[in-house]
Amino acid sequence: MKLYDTLSKTDKELAPKNPEDKFNLYSCGPTVYNFAHIGNLRSFLFADSIRRSLEYVGNSVDWVMNITDVDDKTIKGTIAEFGPEATVDNLRTFTTKYLDIFLQELQSLQIDTASIRFIRVADVIPQIQEYILKLVEKGYAYQTEDGTYFNIEKYQQDFGDYGQLVGKGFLEGKKVGARVKVDEYEKDNLSDFALWKKHTSEDANIYWEHLTLGKGRPGWHIECSVINDIAFKHQSTDLHTGGVDLVFPHHTNEIAQSQPFYKPFSHAWAHSEHLQIDGKKMAKRDGNVYALKDLTGKHPLNGLAFRYLCLQTDFHKPMNFTWESLEAANTALERLYRQFDSLELGKKLHTAENAYETYINKFKSAVEEDLNLPKALAIVWELLADAQVEDSSKRAILLEIDPVLGLNLEHHSPAVELKVTAEVQSLLDARKQARATKDFSKSDELRAQIEAQGFEVLDTPEGQQIKAK
Ligand code: AMP
Ligand code: ZN
Repeated sequence: MKLYDTLSKTDKELAPKNPEDKFNLYSCGPTVYNFAHIGNLRSFLFADSIRRSLEYVGNSVDWVMNITDVDDKTIKGTIAEFGPEATVDNLRTFTTKYLDIFLQELQSLQIDTASIRFIRVADVIPQIQEYILKLVEKGYAYQTEDGTYFNIEKYQQDFGDYGQLVGKGFLEGKKVGARVKVDEYEKDNLSDFALWKKHTSEDANIYWEHLTLGKGRPGWHIECSVINDIAFKHQSTDLHTGGVDLVFPHHTNEIAQSQPFYKPFSHAWAHSEHLQIDGKKMAKRDGNVYALKDLTGKHPLNGLAFRYLCLQTDFHKPMNFTWESLEAANTALERLYRQFDSLELGKKLHTAENAYETYINKFKSAVEEDLNLPKALAIVWELLADAQVEDSSKRAILLEIDPVLGLNLEHHSPAVELKVTAEVQSLLDARKQARATKDFSKSDELRAQIEAQGFEVLDTPEGQQIKAK
């Protein structure tokens, strides 16, 4: 399977180094200080789709995700809730609440949390400290009054590839040497970044003690280097994922922190583009930051309508969320469920020769060519509409490809039943009348109106019958 690799800027074949090995997949996980927004969730659906596709084409995948429960934002949130004396225990309580919500959200998106190894930063503080000390020993980090920083200049001298994930000319016109303590910063601000931040009153009583590094807590970037190292036992990761905002500084810095120990840090990098709302960036001040609960409150199909919506846009392209598009995705998914459910009952035709292989191959190549899921989804509808394929084959094909799409076709929750409303009934009565008087153009017109309401009309010897489309 091929996927666009942000580092080499080419489509890269994904495979574990050794065919007997598992494929090591690492995703930068959520910062658990609030509900995840639907943009965050899109990035996890991207990683989940990669995992599903890799398994579909025959790999066994070891998927690891860090949980950022120690950073500027989680500490600020804990202090807002527990006050100026907040402790590490309070931080745990605060972040666990949002981690639990996150896990439930993943499940309602049909992302199997049992198949992911989650590693919380607060659980690996001693390993992070040890790792930072090794960087100091090797000369890639130095201690100052307020913490320990990564030395970009030294890294650049030895490796010469700092910023390559962004692009070749990244360093041009930039001065190295300044220092930055905050976790998030802009591109033009090329700076040595904090690996260990010494304690200040801003962190209340949230800190860990260390003899050499001093009382403090880790910076944001170091966690992913250390967690990769722990999870994959000092070996290069096969693929590392995240949203595009992570290319710099987060992933760029992860590479720099890791390559003094092994290179490449990751064989390939995949970044999903951002989700926007009504064409605008999600921002608190615009009141358009939506969590999954804001969507599912309005829709019966829970997270899966959102999953379906995400599948309709290539993950490498920005996605524009509107309420109408969610509504349409919900309707399409319900229609898919109804059509799937009625398959065995439908008419049987002789299946064209090789139809099974043709559809499976078409689907597989859509997935294998850079994860083209909108195309994969279109193939599902093409199959359902194909009169040359009998229902039992359609069912078998759909069940084989559903593990990639994750739409839960076989065990889906009931689609909302289409009710024969008074309006549909009167259209049916009028059509019966039109047929009795042999007014077939009127009858066809009425059929179209009935179809617009979501029903198919069948003319049988017993008269008109309708079924959900
Ligand atoms: P965070 O919880 O902020 O650490 O982010 C979790 C993931 O969401 C990261 O992979 C981000 O790159 C990604 N992300 C953040 N904002 C958006 C957005 N608007 N659309 C898509 N992904 C996003
Ligand atoms: Zn990360």
